[in-house]
Amino acid sequence: MTRKSIIIFILFSASLIFAFYYLIKEKTHTYDLIIKEVNIIDAVNHQIKPNKTILVNSDTIVAILDDFPQGNISDNTKIIDGNGKYISSGFWNMHTHVCWKPNLNKKLFPILLSYGITGLRDMGGRLDILNQFKEDSKQNPSSLPTLFGAGPIIDGPNPIHKDFSVAATNKNIDKVLDSLYKNKVDFLKVYSLLPKTTLETIAKFSNEKNIPFAGHISEFTEPIEAVRLGQKSIEHFNGMDYLIKETDSTSLKSFTNALLKNKTWMCPTLVIYKRKIDIIEKKDLFKPLYDDLDVDLKSEWQYALNNSSKSKDNLSQLKEDYNAYKKLVKWFYKNDVNLLIGTDFAGMPFVYPGLGLHEEMQLFSDIGIDNNDILKMATYNPAVYFGKHKTHGTIEEGKKADFVLFNENPVDNINNTRSIFSVVKNGKQLVE
Ligand SMILES: [Zn+2]
Repeated sequence: MTRKSIIIFILFSASLIFAFYYLIKEKTHTYDLIIKEVNIIDAVNHQIKPNKTILVNSDTIVAILDDFPQGNISDNTKIIDGNGKYISSGFWNMHTHVCWKPNLNKKLFPILLSYGITGLRDMGGRLDILNQFKEDSKQNPSSLPTLFGAGPIIDGPNPIHKDFSVAATNKNIDKVLDSLYKNKVDFLKVYSLLPKTTLETIAKFSNEKNIPFAGHISEFTEPIEAVRLGQKSIEHFNGMDYLIKETDSTSLKSFTNALLKNKTWMCPTLVIYKRKIDIIEKKDLFKPLYDDLDVDLKSEWQYALNNSSKSKDNLSQLKEDYNAYKKLVKWFYKNDVNLLIGTDFAGMPFVYPGLGLHEEMQLFSDIGIDNNDILKMATYNPAVYFGKHKTHGTIEEGKKADFVLFNENPVDNINNTRSIFSVVKNGKQLVE
């Protein structure tokens, strides 16, 4: 070899080594989280997508692959082996009351997350606590559920829950609404004793300011009127007994048509009607979770239990109502009314945090609602409700990494929502 060809050889080899090194380096990928070989539940399309690998960067799904990604994976990547497991978008409890005690979120919210609940709609509590909890969730999005809330309940001049309500009259309603709006509540919670004219003022404000109002049907308003005024969701079955009792179902049909036309959501909270019966029958009330509950909540539940025998509620009437409400939920489902899963946690004694949502899903399944649709109601529907379905509610590229993983398939049996293997919030694994 000439001196010149030796130099060329060395240069050639060096560039090969460099290129090879670069190729290797290029193939070292950094992801924050990889969930490999997992079965994705696509509840919206009633499909299972088997053996997929989900790649997450920060709080977002960046890709969903058929195989584990080629090349080297950074040592910092957290890998969850999803083999044989099922994964769903995180659950939302769409009717809770968590904003009644400062710092309650510190102990309660991790319990909710451990049950796969990554989002909450708070249906009434203290405004300062709501704002604090929302701030906490914003600061710690990987360890606390996302929270939307109403702050205080807007009720009539003599509110049912004095502690957490504003007593609204036609005189003060404008001030009340302005103040809630300025305090950036996510929606307005309307309640059972609102005079019709006050509700009309709220509806007008809601429309002008583009802030939803949701809640109970007032005793002074026909359900169909509330729907026509634009109430975004109806909680429970207050004021709806006439829909069940009448023999011909003309009213039910026109009410249902109004719900569909106005895209009104129904949040039945079936579990509260079951629990009313359980409390009188004193059955199925104490679960292991009881010991960990907040002390004030426990004494409230105990008080309710002690006084249940004095209750004016008639057991056979409660059972009759419960059966009628179950039929009504089935009717709404069959007629494509938008349904939500909520439990009224802390509004109804012995409805447990976290667990209650799984019970509600079970009650929906018991009345013959398709399990895929139930999972959709607990994941995708809330995203649509909040207008966040482009970023939340399903497992797709570009969406938020809020997941719950199950050992068993909940589509086969809805009770399998309780077989939680792991929970991921904002791209971080919380429960192992
Ligand atoms: Zn409630």
